[in-house]
Amino acid sequence: MRIVLLGAPGSGKGTQAKLIVKERQIPHISTGDLLRGAIADQTELGLAAKKVMDAGELVSDEIVLGMLKDRLNQPDAAKGFVLDGFPRNVRQAEMLEELLSELDIQLDHALLIQVNPDEVVARIAKRAQEEGRTDDTEEVVRNRLEVYREQTEPVADFYRKQDIVSEIHGTGSIEEVHDRIQAVFRF
Ligand code: ADP
Repeated sequence: MRIVLLGAPGSGKGTQAKLIVKERQIPHISTGDLLRGAIADQTELGLAAKKVMDAGELVSDEIVLGMLKDRLNQPDAAKGFVLDGFPRNVRQAEMLEELLSELDIQLDHALLIQVNPDEVVARIAKRAQEEGRTDDTEEVVRNRLEVYREQTEPVADFYRKQDIVSEIHGTGSIEEVHDRIQAVFRF
């Protein structure tokens, strides 16, 4: 199964992705994690990406696509994947279409996790205390939400046209949200 997870920062994409991949034995591919890995390894790409991420802006489409392409070409991704954090704008969605068609595969689901903005801000504030991510400060979070509204929300319409979008209510416990996702897969 090939799944794209959509939702605002703090909507729980990463948490839900981990549960899905555990059950389905497919890899969790998070572009945020790939970028944070490059930062930790202190690669040239990582150093350039860090500045952009710390401002809450999007890293260039080409850089992220290159990382994603490498990851999708690894053997474990052949049986499916949960994509988390990509596509983040319509251009990336188009790039992904092209990449998947080269590999002769298609997406099965685009899951849109909906959480209201107040809840999202509260969750990220909590995560900031727990994890200390450098892009979780209040001002940067506000910018990330703005970028989400402007650039990522239209991606849902892109997949609506393909009729693969399922909207999931993202409030409630982790298990409750996971159950809603499972219900989508049963149809
Ligand atoms: P969140 O979903 O909480 O915003 P992520 O870990 O997905 O967190 O992303 C953190 C940051 O990494 C983003 O704000 C952005 O700068 C960068 N990033 C992640 N994925 C992409 C992408 N597909 N395109 C561009 N930048 C990305």
